[in-house]
Amino acid sequence: MKIDFDKDANGLVPAIIQDAQTKSVLMLGYMNEEAYKKTIETKKVTFYSRSKERLWTKGEESGNFLNLVDIKVDCDNDTLKVMVNPVGPTCHTGTDTCWHEENEASFGFFSKLENVIAQRRTSADSEKSYVASLFKKGINKIAQKVGEEAVETVIEAKDDNDDLFLYESADLLFHYLILLQAKGFSLKDIEAELQKRHK
Ligand code: AMP
Ligand code: ZN
Ligand code: ZN
Ligand code: ZN
Repeated sequence: MKIDFDKDANGLVPAIIQDAQTKSVLMLGYMNEEAYKKTIETKKVTFYSRSKERLWTKGEESGNFLNLVDIKVDCDNDTLKVMVNPVGPTCHTGTDTCWHEENEASFGFFSKLENVIAQRRTSADSEKSYVASLFKKGINKIAQKVGEEAVETVIEAKDDNDDLFLYESADLLFHYLILLQAKGFSLKDIEAELQKRHK
């Protein structure tokens, strides 16, 4: 990878630190060639700190390291994008990012659906809302629905009708989201469990 450390008088290039999973931008730091090499070697993000005037491995005091996943250089070789798995909050103020944001895992429309389901659970009329009526019937009924939709998905998987397979898959995922909530969990818990196994 060609990086143009000489463009800047002090031999520094900006390094944008991005969470490899959530894609949140966590912080910005600067690397010289030595910091870059140390980052690659140790797999822990290391900057050149302009205030400390030395190499600085993020997390060296706090333990909140940035574990390296990948580094990309931009179109004209003068800016790095560093993808990481952060340990703990990245900012020394204790927030997840240096812009006072939470680093939330986002599942896009699925997260939106989770919110809608949570809202129906607590405040919707079970005469009008299918989700509310399911919650009212209780956990056994919800689990049974997941079982039925799973069987329907299996049946359609064996057929060669793609439309029906997609339709039943959507039914299955939707009812599964409801079951997860009824059990007090969310997609994030599943993600954490899967990540734990992914060594
Ligand atoms: P750490 O590298 O996390 O052990 O933190 C050591 C010191 O580096 C802190 O006391 C801060 O002065 C500074 N520091 C840590 N994290 C950041 C950050 N995200 N942005 C700027 N300075 C930081
Ligand atoms: Zn550039
Ligand atoms: Zn900060
Ligand atoms: Zn179905």
